[in-house]
Amino acid sequence: MNAAPLIIVGAGHAGGRAALTLREQGYDGELLLIGDEAHAPYERPPLSKGVLQGTAELGGYSLSGAAELARLGIEHVAGQGVQHLDVGTRQVQLNDGRRLLYSGLLLATGGSARRLPGMATGWTNVRYLRTHDEALALRASLRGGVRLVVVGGGFIGLEVAASARALGCAVTLLEAGPRLAGRVLPAEVSMALLTLHREQGVDVRLNARIEAFEGAREVTCVRLDDGSRIPCDSVVVGIGMQPNVGLAQAAGLAIGQGIRVDACLRASAPDVFVAGDVCEFRLHPEGPYQRQETWRNAEAQGRHAALNLLGAGLPFQQVPGFWSDQYDHGLQTVGQLGDGPASARRALAGGFLLFYLDNQQRLQGACGWGVGNSVAKDIKLCERLITAGQPLAASQLADPGVALKTLLRN
Ligand code: FAD
Ligand code: NAP
Repeated sequence: MNAAPLIIVGAGHAGGRAALTLREQGYDGELLLIGDEAHAPYERPPLSKGVLQGTAELGGYSLSGAAELARLGIEHVAGQGVQHLDVGTRQVQLNDGRRLLYSGLLLATGGSARRLPGMATGWTNVRYLRTHDEALALRASLRGGVRLVVVGGGFIGLEVAASARALGCAVTLLEAGPRLAGRVLPAEVSMALLTLHREQGVDVRLNARIEAFEGAREVTCVRLDDGSRIPCDSVVVGIGMQPNVGLAQAAGLAIGQGIRVDACLRASAPDVFVAGDVCEFRLHPEGPYQRQETWRNAEAQGRHAALNLLGAGLPFQQVPGFWSDQYDHGLQTVGQLGDGPASARRALAGGFLLFYLDNQQRLQGACGWGVGNSVAKDIKLCERLITAGQPLAASQLADPGVALKTLLRN
C-alpha cells in the first residue's frame, strides 16, 4: 500500500518553499500543497512596493509557476481552504468536503490583515493589503491627485505611503502611537522615517485616533477624536496582522501567540510541523517564544520544516532580520535589537548603523539606514559578527574608520 501523502496547508511563501525543498531533497512521494488563494505561491514584499508602483508583475515574484509545480509533481490545490484538521486520524478536510489522509503535515497558514476595530464594514473604498489580489485592487485606486488616508504607521502603512507618493497621490498617514513602527524599530530610525516621509510630502499625524468614517457607501472624510476632519477618496488600513491559528486551535494543538513548536518546528501532535508567520518558536532552549513576520523567516523555516518532515530532526537556528524600502532609502536589520538604547552608533554618509551588544559585549543585533542599498554590506558583516560571538569594543563599532571586516578577522 502507498504511504499517505505529505500535505502542506497554506500555499504562501513558507508553504511554497517547503514544497520545492521537498522535491529538491529527493522526496518523490505524493505531495499536496493546499491554499485558499487562486495563485501559485508567491513572495509578498513587492505587493506594497513594485506592484503598487507598476514595476513588478506576479510572474516576477512567484516562487514557482503552475507549470513548474506540475512538472515537479506538486499537486497544488488552489482556491481551497482547509477547514478541519483531525490529528488523531491524520486527516484534513477541505471546504468542498473532501477528506485527505496525511503521513506528514506542514501548517504554513500565515496571517490575515487585522481589521480596524469598532468601524462598520462594507465601505467600498477602505482597503487592506495582504494578498496579490488586494494589491491589484489597491493599485487600481491610486492615481495622481487621489487623496489617500493611510491608517497605521507600520511597514504596510509606510511602504504604501511611499508608493502612493510616487504615483502622485496626496497622502495623510495616521499612526495611533507616538512614533512610526514604534514596536519594532529604534527611536532614531522612527525619527528618520518621520523626517523622510514629511520631506516627501506625506502629512504624518502621530497619536492619531479615528473617531468615525463619514460618507454613504464610500468614506469621504475621516474624523479624528481631536475634531480634525480629513477629506479623502480612498483609505488603506495597515494596523498589523493576526496569525491564522484557528485550524490548529480547533484541532487541539498548543497555541501561544501562534502555533507553538519545539526546537525542530514540530507542533504538539505527531508528524505536524509549522513554518512562517504563524509559527511560535524559541531560538534558544531558554529564550522567549516569539514569532517573526518576515520574508527571511518564511524562507528559512519553510526550507527547514521540509528537511524535518523528511526526518532530519534538525533544530531551527537562524539569525533573524528584515528590510524595508521606502522612496530612495533602505532599512535593514539583523539579530535582536533589544528595547534599550543602542550600544554604539556609526555615522554613514546619508545614514547610520546602530549596534546592540549583550552584557558580554557580543553583538546581538544591528540596524542600518541609508540611501538605496548602501547598508547591505555592513549588515551582512554584522550577521557574521553575531554568529562569531566574539566580544567587541563599542568604540570600534562606532568608528567609521574601522572597517567591520577587520573586526571579524581579529
Ligand atoms: P503567507 O505568505 O501569508 O502565506 C500563508 C498562506 O496560507 C496564504 O496564502 C493564506 O491564504 C493561506 N491559508 C491560510 N489559512 C489557510 C487554510 N486554512 N487553508 C488553506 N490556505 C490557507 N517581509 C520582509 O522581510 N520584508 C519586506 O519588505 C516585506 N514586505 C511585505 C509586504 C507586504 C504587503 C506583506 C503583506 C508582507 C511583507 N513582508 C515583508 C512579510 C512577509 O511577506 C511574510 O512574513 C511572509 O509572506 C510570511 O509567509 P507565510 O508563508 O508564513 O505566510
Ligand atoms: P505592523 O508593522 O505591526 O504596524 C501596524 C502599525 O499600525 C503600528 O505602528 C501600530 O501602532 C499602528 N496601529 C495599530 N492600530 C492602529 C489604529 N487603530 N490607528 C492607527 N494606527 C494603528 O503591521 P502592518 O504594517 O499592518 O504590516 C502587516 C504585516 O506585513 C506584518 O507582518 C509586517 O511585518 C508585514 N510587512 C512587512 C514589511 C517589511 O518587513 N518591510 C513590509 C510590509 C508588511 P502600535 O504599534 O502603537 O499599535
